[in-house]
Amino acid sequence: MSTMSDSPLQTETLRHCVYAAEVDEIAESLQTNLSRGLRGEQVEIRLKQHGPNTLQTTAETHWYEVVVRQFTDILILILVVAAIISVAVGEVTDAITIFAIVVLNGALGFAQEWKAERALEALRDMLSPRCKVIRDSTEQEIDAVTLVPGDLVRLETGDDVPADLRLAQCVNLKMDESALTGESVSVAKASVPVGENSPLAQRHSMVWMGTAVTSGRAIGIVVATGEQTEFGRIATLTESIGRETTPLQRKLAVLGKQLGFAAVVIAIMVSVAGWAMGKPLLEMFLTGVSLAVAVVPEGLPAVVTLTMALGIRAMVRRKALLRRLRAAEGLGAATVVCTDKTGTLTQNQMTVRTIWLSGGSIDVTGVGYDPAGHFEVAGEKIDYHQRSDLLKLLETSLHCNHARLDRDGNGWQERGEPTESALVVAAYKAWLEPERHPHAVQEHSFDSSRKRMTIVEHDKDGWVAHIKGAPEVILSRCTQVLDDDRVHELTETRRQEAEAAYNEMANGGLRTLAIARRELPRNSSLEADTVEENLTLLGIVGMMDPPRAEVPDAIGLAQSAGIRVVMITGDSPATALAIAHSVGLPSTNAITGQELNEMDDDTLSVTLNNDVVFARTTPEHKLRIVEILQSDGHIVGMTGDGVNDAPALKKADIGIAMGLRGTDVAKGAADIVLTDDNFSSIVGAIEEGRRQYDNIQKFVRYLLSSNTGEVVAIFVNIIIGGPLILLPVQILWMNLVTDGMTAVALGLEPAEKTVMQRPPRKPTEPVLNWSGIGVILGLGAYIGLATLWLFHHYLGHDDPETVMLAETVAFTGIVLIEKANVLNFRSLDSPLLSVGIFTNPWVIIAIGVTVGLQVCAVYVPFLQTALHTTPLRLSDWGMILAMAAPVFVVTEFAKWFRQRTSVEKVSQK
Ligand code: ATP
Repeated sequence: MSTMSDSPLQTETLRHCVYAAEVDEIAESLQTNLSRGLRGEQVEIRLKQHGPNTLQTTAETHWYEVVVRQFTDILILILVVAAIISVAVGEVTDAITIFAIVVLNGALGFAQEWKAERALEALRDMLSPRCKVIRDSTEQEIDAVTLVPGDLVRLETGDDVPADLRLAQCVNLKMDESALTGESVSVAKASVPVGENSPLAQRHSMVWMGTAVTSGRAIGIVVATGEQTEFGRIATLTESIGRETTPLQRKLAVLGKQLGFAAVVIAIMVSVAGWAMGKPLLEMFLTGVSLAVAVVPEGLPAVVTLTMALGIRAMVRRKALLRRLRAAEGLGAATVVCTDKTGTLTQNQMTVRTIWLSGGSIDVTGVGYDPAGHFEVAGEKIDYHQRSDLLKLLETSLHCNHARLDRDGNGWQERGEPTESALVVAAYKAWLEPERHPHAVQEHSFDSSRKRMTIVEHDKDGWVAHIKGAPEVILSRCTQVLDDDRVHELTETRRQEAEAAYNEMANGGLRTLAIARRELPRNSSLEADTVEENLTLLGIVGMMDPPRAEVPDAIGLAQSAGIRVVMITGDSPATALAIAHSVGLPSTNAITGQELNEMDDDTLSVTLNNDVVFARTTPEHKLRIVEILQSDGHIVGMTGDGVNDAPALKKADIGIAMGLRGTDVAKGAADIVLTDDNFSSIVGAIEEGRRQYDNIQKFVRYLLSSNTGEVVAIFVNIIIGGPLILLPVQILWMNLVTDGMTAVALGLEPAEKTVMQRPPRKPTEPVLNWSGIGVILGLGAYIGLATLWLFHHYLGHDDPETVMLAETVAFTGIVLIEKANVLNFRSLDSPLLSVGIFTNPWVIIAIGVTVGLQVCAVYVPFLQTALHTTPLRLSDWGMILAMAAPVFVVTEFAKWFRQRTSVEKVSQK
């Protein structure tokens, strides 16, 4: 309670010898309790003293950086020069207008980018590391940022270490310290002190922030947090989100540069040519600047960033957290998704249904994690007290187990792995409970390569090893079997009986697990290979893990989108096939990991074209499958949760980690983290990725066709010798103030109905294909020529009033034609009438606002002065609308016609 007891900690002096001191000593000096942890109030005080447990990352973006970015564009510099020249020649109004528009554009760009930055930051917060601590005698999961010295942290296989810890207890702990030491071989750790002069790599009583647990479990005391950690001292962690650019962004940046270059060349050429033809130099200079402004779609980068950031939010709603921006694009192009089974296709809600014992099978009743249920043989309830073989199996299942069951207001809750929880529930049904504080002598953890787990404990006369694992793996290590109350040799007949039993369970879609035991003399070797042999088989457990209800539809959707789904599971072939059939995954046969090992790459590549599932695989198989699929030109999404899945997740084009079940290591290696572990979220994210890509294409085409229109108008006008048509300030107004808004609105377009009915996009496909370029040129030509026609139609005699009216009509005309043109890009292929006019209200709002602004530009006096306009009459508006309508109507008709002919072609076939 008292702050006295929490006087400032001597962590600085501590840090140098924590690895050499006894654990009790450290606990005492850090005023923590080794079983109860810190108290809430201690944590609060220490958090104030030591600050949050974070490293200064370079990821944070300051608002002023975003502001500066808005004004460091070559085009902006050209405009500034233009403004200065305007002042020099006495056109002060023009200069002010240019400056005003540049500032307004900067403000809009800033608003968009800042919003994007916020979205990325929110995502970073969602991905911030968590860890398990013991505080106030209870174990809780907390944000690792709030860790303080003295906290007790629990570590398990796959966890990232959240701070520097002095180990207090550990079982078979092995660490990957490559992030710190560069050494890729796992390092074994122990809680005993090491010599004071040991170098960092040999301080085995410590684990360091930024490293990860490759196997085993431990409890450690936090001795340094944040910048005080070894990692904090030698490196700064950089979180890559938001810093990297995606391939699409890079392609667009190249396109932008090319257009910028073209702009300068065209501008110089035209103005020099015009001047040579005898036009005034100032007019030609202004035309050159207009052209340069017209060619470059200034709003594009900001709109792309904003669309992607908003897309990230949409993905979060679909339960997919992006760790890297490029994943959204990759998802849109995915051709194969490799998924594991347990928890992704199934619910990961295990219930033991049947137990095979040498003396016969026993059924278990009850649902979920509620321990209400009993044991039955042939539909008759049995008295489990009479079945010592059953009790022994249940006891071993409890000992070789880390799960717990708790009861709260919502009923029974499992804590730990579902497979293990199911065993605890089964044991509860015989009124057996896990020991609160078991004392393991040794533990060999489960991982998907070993497919088994062993805990060695003290027994009356010596030690006893409790083992569970995949039946094939365990059976091959058994030499004896428990029969009623006696141990017999495991004869070939018995072995076959056991095999038949688990095959039958697996064929029924049950997940199978063999349970075995071995008695060991005290002080015998505790190496995994020595302990896990000559086992006595106790029995085989079959548990049900029902498929997720939404998965069949998601698989159907993936298929209609031309995406293959391949199941790669650690479970048995029969269970894999049974589950594949129940979720509607086409599968004719199951290939086991062993068969995979025997296949060469070519055969595997051919096999992968068939409807197969992969069973009893290890993470290395996943990696190989990704590599083969990629070499066949596929874009591969791969799911994973374990430590060993990291290489496959990294190698895949889109690594997908499980948010609930996954280890920190898997999440760290992935591009996307699924917050609900659900397969259908992957398909949802793919749909979202496709929508985003479509929308980016839509507004890129829209902006480029508008800009082409402006260039055509100015260029052709010069060729035919007309007076200056669009003034630089007017073009600026169009491109910067009004176009950006409509482009952002296009970025919010909902997914088209056909988005998941077409094959994946080719990753090599350019942002602009030939048909895209054709559309841009076609529409651009219309926009330009229609504007030019309006201009010349109004240019009567050379009196200033008529020229001003012609200029205003041309200026307003091109704005309105461009707005009508927006409607063409709401869908690239389908007519707007079939998409629905009101399905994207943002476009309607953007058009409304833009037209409103244009009306102001024409009628509000100060804007008239700034933009060189004069009021229009109703008949002028009528004329403009008559020129604007065809750009939409004709395109709409063309789309309708094309859609009809393609439907006819299909029906003729
Ligand atoms: P997926 O790869 O689709 O997630 P999975 O969970 O069945 O499937 P693994 O986790 O590799 O794959 O498990 C493989 C096998 O190992 C299981 O079928 C089961 O027999 C056994 N097993 C699973 N969990 C444990 C555990 N905690 N202890 C011992 N054996 C286990």
